[in-house]
Amino acid sequence: MNSAFSDSETKRVTLIPGDGVGPECVRAAQRVIQAVGTPIAWEERQAGAVVFRQGIASGVPPETIESIRKTRVVLKGPLETPVGFGEKSANVTLRKLFETYGNIRPAREFPGVPTPYSGRGIDLVVVRENVEDLYAGIEHMQTPGVAQCLKLISRKGCEKVVRLAFELAVAEGRRRVHCATKSNIMKLTEGMLKRTFEEVSQEYPHIETQHIIIDNCAHQLVKKPEQFDVIVTTNMNGDIISDLTSALIGGLGFAPSANLGNEVAIFEAVHGSAPKYAGKNVINPTAVLLSAVMMLRHLGEFQAAATIEHAVLVTLEDAQVRTGDVVGYDQGASTTTFTDAVVSNLGRTSEWHPVRAYKPVTLPQVHSLPDLVKTRARRVLGVDIFVESSLSSDALGQSLEAIAAESPLKLKMISNRGTMVYPATGAITDCVDHWRCRFVLRSSTEDLADSVLLALLQRVACRHRWMHVEKLPELDGSLGFTKAQGED
Ligand code: NAP
Repeated sequence: MNSAFSDSETKRVTLIPGDGVGPECVRAAQRVIQAVGTPIAWEERQAGAVVFRQGIASGVPPETIESIRKTRVVLKGPLETPVGFGEKSANVTLRKLFETYGNIRPAREFPGVPTPYSGRGIDLVVVRENVEDLYAGIEHMQTPGVAQCLKLISRKGCEKVVRLAFELAVAEGRRRVHCATKSNIMKLTEGMLKRTFEEVSQEYPHIETQHIIIDNCAHQLVKKPEQFDVIVTTNMNGDIISDLTSALIGGLGFAPSANLGNEVAIFEAVHGSAPKYAGKNVINPTAVLLSAVMMLRHLGEFQAAATIEHAVLVTLEDAQVRTGDVVGYDQGASTTTFTDAVVSNLGRTSEWHPVRAYKPVTLPQVHSLPDLVKTRARRVLGVDIFVESSLSSDALGQSLEAIAAESPLKLKMISNRGTMVYPATGAITDCVDHWRCRFVLRSSTEDLADSVLLALLQRVACRHRWMHVEKLPELDGSLGFTKAQGED
């Protein structure tokens, strides 16, 4: 991890106990850090369910934000988010407020934790882009029955996370970086990560690189996980495959993580608040203990980090004390008993499972200009007007053709959820009341003026309910939009 802190001073860390099993986890980490003697001044602050209940819609109160702005380092428990309704995730809010753009999620085989993969030497890291993609959380009901979530991927976001993945590989002496995307389907969004990866990889010739489609990545992770070293991927993909990689090494109780940004770093277990175990003193604190180890490395406390990591490994290796999530140990030790064992093992060294030699990660320096990418030539070829209508595709098409008859724009096609339905293709499509109506300039050399677009929109609005408009750009000669299924 990056070390921006000197060795001697007392480090200030914002501590967020979190929801559900969170307090049990973070207290375990505090105990072990205190036992190892690292001087940390904890600033305890709240976020999550308790804050939502106070009526603060973001789930993150100003005093928590203020503390993080000062300390720049957070150890947190998981935060609960209602599923499918209600407030936004306080967890995602924290990551986005402080631009922690890279989520580092290591998965390494542990001694004494039997899994179907034991002995195969799994030792990989998922580097998940952490603030963009569908997690921008920009959602709209476009018709009463059709919802939309915008998948926003920026060149800048891709560059930061790809560079972070390569720098992590360098710092940890890793040899191979995979980039996992769905760029075969989402050519512009997921494709942006792939293209950025291919460009940035030129600067790291000593590191082996490979692009892999995310679904095959999931397949290969289950089939032959030891082939992976570092995997960089988009937010949603990374969320899912990092739970998968956690399961490969024993489950979420063993999976730590770091959310890294240029200003702030937030350390937490990959797991959530596991509400059914809250207050029962049964959960496995290993994930949060190893998150604290990552935090100590970030703070420059390499010796303390190695001491705690060894103590965790020795405790697992001894196999005397194991929590109930370890397969075959349903009547496992309590969280407190396991933590006691780790404390008593501080100072012992794991022989079987050497701790990796770490160097500080160099965080990428990417220009802070908002428009990182400049074009030499750009023009607008047409416009997609999204319309809500209960007409048939034929009736809607004929209506729009008539509306555009006098316009420099002509109706090229209509698609329904991405499939062209007008002009008819013979496809058997179960349409909904959400239509993308693509108009293009009759002259292929012109640039669409806003006045032309707005005049057409006004005429469409007289007859149909429109809800959304997208220009169709051409950037440096390349189409800046994709075609519908079935469109020429
Ligand atoms: P979860 O809390 O991670 O729990 C899923 C399952 O993983 C548990 O039922 C348990 O499996 C196992 N597990 C998790 N942590 C464990 C531990 N420390 N020791 C042993 N086993 C552990 O996922 P969820 O139930 O989907 O989410 C619950 C809430 O947490 C939701 O509100 C969600 O939004 C939130 N969440 C927060 C974060 C975060 O703050 N970073 C991350 C993810 C989810 P078994 O049932 O097999 O025992």
